[in-house]
Amino acid sequence: MFMFSYKSIICCVFLISFFDPVWAEAVLHNIQGYTSSSEGTREFSVLVIDDTGRVAAFGDDELLADKSSSERIDGGGLTVLPGLIDAHAHVYSFGLLKTNLDLAGVPSVDEAATRIRDYAIHHPHADWILGRGWNQVLWPVREFPTAAQIDAVVSDRPVWLKRIDGHAGWANSAAMKIAGIDNDTPDPVGGKILRDDNGSATGIFIDNAMELIVASLPEADKDDYRTALLNAVETLAAEGITSVHDAGIDLMNAEVYLSMADNDELGIRIYAMTGGAGDVLDAIGEPLYAYGNDHLEIASVKIYSDGALGSRGAAMIEPYSDDAENRGLAFWTQDELEAFVKKANDLGFQVGIHAIGDLGNRMALDAFEKAQQGKPSPLRNRIEHAQIIQLEDIPRFAELGVIAAMQPTHATSDKNMAEDRIGPDRILGGYAWRRLLESGAVIASGSDFPVELSNPFHGLYAAVTRQDRDGEPEGGWYPGQALTRAEALHSFTLAAAYAANQEDRLGSLEPGKWADFILIDRNYFTIPASEIDDIKVVQTWVGGEKIFDVNKAVKEQ
Ligand SMILES: [Zn+2]
Repeated sequence: MFMFSYKSIICCVFLISFFDPVWAEAVLHNIQGYTSSSEGTREFSVLVIDDTGRVAAFGDDELLADKSSSERIDGGGLTVLPGLIDAHAHVYSFGLLKTNLDLAGVPSVDEAATRIRDYAIHHPHADWILGRGWNQVLWPVREFPTAAQIDAVVSDRPVWLKRIDGHAGWANSAAMKIAGIDNDTPDPVGGKILRDDNGSATGIFIDNAMELIVASLPEADKDDYRTALLNAVETLAAEGITSVHDAGIDLMNAEVYLSMADNDELGIRIYAMTGGAGDVLDAIGEPLYAYGNDHLEIASVKIYSDGALGSRGAAMIEPYSDDAENRGLAFWTQDELEAFVKKANDLGFQVGIHAIGDLGNRMALDAFEKAQQGKPSPLRNRIEHAQIIQLEDIPRFAELGVIAAMQPTHATSDKNMAEDRIGPDRILGGYAWRRLLESGAVIASGSDFPVELSNPFHGLYAAVTRQDRDGEPEGGWYPGQALTRAEALHSFTLAAAYAANQEDRLGSLEPGKWADFILIDRNYFTIPASEIDDIKVVQTWVGGEKIFDVNKAVKEQ
């Protein structure tokens, strides 16, 4: 155990506030600029950045003429947007993809086995083979895999592979032996061990049952974290993401973030939600704001009200349409959930409750209503995913000021499965972006990477088209719920900043805010919607500093 304390770092906060200017005032011109603002989308062709890295002004050629003595940066006619904010994602897990076995998109269990075997051959010193990304729904036989299928290629070392959604894990027999799993091991609360007809574990562990294996994994150290986080932020900057709401970090991750902020290594900005069902909250005790020039805040706590829809772990008011005995799993009782929200809010933390099923969402709304005494809270509590909502519960988001933190690509990835699970009536409250917006709710968009790809243009494209990346279905899936381009951009910028109580500093290119922006290779607002998915980032700037340049990246290779 180590003590986590902000007290020792107060001096650093003080020093960093006397931030050296990177340069004198600079003027970015020859651009097609767009930003969300409190008055809707604004266009500009000139952006003035002051000597602290903040926006001084935006305007047109008249502004350029006024600034004739300032340093000039030619934007080459490119389109400029505010830096994109992913309002729900998992930075450390994403960074691990580069070092662990990545099974995302693998088309069959045989191909998965081949990759596992090859990875084991190339990593002879790894005590455990760890990986992520498999999805049996993509396989010809859409059944969960088994331990025996891994044993056939790796039996001498433990193997543990998380499903793409992080809500199930696949172990081999060696891993189950180390974890002490046998026929008598009970299912934990909120979890399930899949078993065969003899009662033996098959190798698949759902939701809380994953902990049975995870408890035996070798612990990552701070260097492992730092390596993964550096991998992640580098990739994200190149994709045009300037801030991430990290949905559930552990204590070591928090410590490594702090040291990375101190050493100016973060590059992008992190708004972190503590994880671990409140354990991390207890260790941290108080929120951290605006650390390291607004590169790090730890001011939110993430908990789960239920599981995922694909594995039927999402808590439903009525049984699943394709499993009449099953209503999924609620992870907390209503009383526990309310007590937790109240405690975290009293400590000054925003609460983000993962809720997928309509019961999970209703329990979260009920808990917020109680803790907030029926009114909006200045902490802006949030529901993460807000995926399936009873129509009568939709207006409660706006009434209670609860943010809907949603992921446009979840709709286009889930579209074939979701209606099987919940049927044609409940689907009307599923992925219901338009209904939520019309009720007055704020939608903050993200990707949930590594569950989905991190590229935010895939999310903007999904939000605008309701189509997957193959253009399916034609015309869009429940296209009435699509967002306009302006709404989609708002949800990935200013609304996302609002969801972190940061809209006074981030989320748009209005004067006084940090100059976090991107230059992209085509005009998001005027190209055919089908091309939004293909937009490439040319440069990424954070706080008036260029942190990614595609031309440099290409030259260095
Ligand atoms: Zn997530």
